[in-house]
Parts: sequence; C-alpha cells; structure tokens
Amino acid sequence: MPINITDFLSDNAKSMRRSAIRDLLNVANRPEIISFGGGFPNAETFPVDELKQIIAELMEEMPEKLLQYGSTEGSVAFRKQIAKRYKDAGLDVDIKNILVTTASQQALDLISRVFLNPGDTVLCGLPSYLGALQAFYSYQACPVGIKHDEEAEAVVSALCATGRKPKFIYAIPDFQNPSGVTMTLEKRQEIVDVARKYDLLILEDSPYKEIRFEGQAYPTMYSLAPERVMLAGTLSKTFAPGFRLGWVVAPDQIIDRLIVAKQSADLCTPIFNQEVAARYMEKGYFDVNLRKTIDLYRHKRDLMHKYLSEFMPEGVTWTRPEGGLFLFITLPEWMNAKELFDIAIKENVAFVIGEVFYCDGKGQNTLRLNFSYVSDEMMKEGVSRLANAIKKMMARKK
Ligand code: PMP
Repeated sequence: MPINITDFLSDNAKSMRRSAIRDLLNVANRPEIISFGGGFPNAETFPVDELKQIIAELMEEMPEKLLQYGSTEGSVAFRKQIAKRYKDAGLDVDIKNILVTTASQQALDLISRVFLNPGDTVLCGLPSYLGALQAFYSYQACPVGIKHDEEAEAVVSALCATGRKPKFIYAIPDFQNPSGVTMTLEKRQEIVDVARKYDLLILEDSPYKEIRFEGQAYPTMYSLAPERVMLAGTLSKTFAPGFRLGWVVAPDQIIDRLIVAKQSADLCTPIFNQEVAARYMEKGYFDVNLRKTIDLYRHKRDLMHKYLSEFMPEGVTWTRPEGGLFLFITLPEWMNAKELFDIAIKENVAFVIGEVFYCDGKGQNTLRLNFSYVSDEMMKEGVSRLANAIKKMMARKK
C-alpha cells in the first residue's frame, strides 16, 4: 500500500509548479509531429570531432584532475575563459566575481534560494521565461509582471506603496525567451535607474546575447550597474546544453552567499565538463563554431519568416528577433492558443502556448515558436501545418 506523501510535503514543495512546457511536449513526442516547441539548439552545431580530440588529449594529460571533485567556485581555467570573453566584449570581470553553475537554471535557483522569502515580490517581464518563474514559485515568491512598454518606475512605486517592494527585477534583455524582443539601451538604463532609486537587485539572464544575427549589440545591464546586477550566462545555446555549464557574475558579497548555497546543492559543477570546455575555448574552436551557429540560426529565422508570410492568414502577427532561438506569435484576440494546440496536434505540428509565460494568467492568444531545431524541409511543412490549424479554427467561428 503506497503512503500518501502529501502530508509530508514542505510548503516550498507545495508551491512548486510543474513545467507546462514539458507536459505539453510529451504529447508532441510522436515522430510524425513537427515540433517548434522545445528550446533545443540544432544538433548540427555540436562540435563532435573537436570534443573527441580534446577529451582524449585531457584524459592523457590530467586524468586525476578531470575525474576528481572540483572547487565550488569552479575551475580557474574555465573562469579565465569566461572572463576573457567578457573582456573581448569590453567588460572587465575578475574571476573571483564568477561562480560556475550547473547551467543557468541552477543560477536562477541559487539566486532565488539566497534572496527570496515566502511572499516576496519579483518583478519580471510579461511574458517571461517559464523556468525562472518556476524557480521563484518554488521559494513561494510572487512574480509580478510588467509589459515591455510599461514604465518601470510607475510599477515599482505602486508596488512599494502597497508594501510589496520587489526584491529583484528579473530581465532577459537580449532576444528574450519567449518573445524574441531585445531591450533598447534606454530601456536598460531606465530599469537600472529605477533599481538604484528604489534600491533593488537585478537578475540579468543572458543565454542568447552572443547569438546576434544583425544590428548593434547593447551593453549588459551588469556593465551599467555592477554593484547590484547578477548576470547569469550559459554555454547551453552556444556550445552544448548537455554539458550543463553556466555561471553568475556578481559583486563579492553576493558570490560568497551563492557559493554557500551551491555547496549544499551539488558541491561543484562537473570539473570534467569545465576543463573540456575551457580547452575548447582556448583552442579558438568556440568562436569559429559560434559564427557558424549564428549563420545557421539567421538562415532559419529568415526561413521561418518567409513561410509565416507565405502561409499565415490575415490577423496573425509575429516578432522579428535579431538573434536567439525563438519568435512569438500573436493570434486575433478571440483565439485561444490552448484550443489551437489540440487542433495543431491533429495536424501533426506542436508549439508552446504563450500563457505559460504570463505570470498574470493572460496571453491566451499567443504562442512561441522555436526556429533553431527543425530542418529546413520540416520548417516549411511545419509552418504550413500550423497555418492550416489556425485557418481551421478561424473557419469554425464563421
Ligand atoms: N534562462 C533562459 C531565458 C532560458 O531560455 C533558458 C533555457 N531555455 C535558461 C535560462 C536555462 O538554460 P540552461 O540551464 O540550459 O543554461
């Protein structure tokens, strides 16, 4: 007889929310379904041969190190490579201000663990990355949404007036997940100014910044306010998500607290992965591969745009991201993407419904499409199937 574990659960566990994306995509696992759902990089970008060579080389050179525990802060060789990449981009970061994490999802969790009490407010985008919302919920925090065009000061001052001053602002300034939108320099400055005025922290989540297809890159929010920004980075989209390698750049006091939190979470991020990635970067493979990845994803973004323009009926609009992996579709107001999902699955195409990214429960007429993963042929077929599903739903209304 199985026991009923509900009575044993902690309050934190009770406030955790299952990923609606994973649940939805389980439905979309059938081989005949073309999925624009997950945030998967394209397997063509994985540097298999280079990694075979580096792993053999390092196993010859330093097997004891590779297979041993590492320090909680992370490998010096790896952190030096991360610092070098920032330096090349014009940002001076000391390696003592870098904590290696088991990809950026762990950074979101550790930061939530260190800063959030039950009932605390976190200000985040409408829409915003679901995995971050999950991290906030799991510490019983309350995300409050702000639209891209809303004035941050008005929202923060209204929250403060009702005793709900946010602990931090969560932002994905470059090629946001899910919308694909990038914050202008003015917007970054506005948010930093508000954080300074009201003494708030900022969590800048930046997995896509280096995947820019065109246009001018903007400075990180960290560079605008290094005293209060925690910058989370990852190699998941520029190298391989299977390595689970990420990091946080933050002021000394914050890094120190995050190290203590990480000690009880996993002691250290696999040193094997860090050393392999560090050597991969040292040899210059990272930059060469990143350029190829950018070219491939730009091509895929263009292709998806072409097919969207070709197949989508009147009344459907979409964003044009200058980088990253996603674009966001808005359907006519009356349409519900959840209902569309059921029709789309019958047409053998999948996506992520937009409302899972809205902490205010709205966004019913939106959906996210990933353009990095599917082949060119599947892209055409998939967009055509999606357009058919939308047309079917529109025809039912008439
Ligand atoms: N932040 C954002 C905005 C993301 O889109 C993702 C992955 N989709 C993550 C964090 C987590 O990525 P990882 O843990 O693989 O670094």
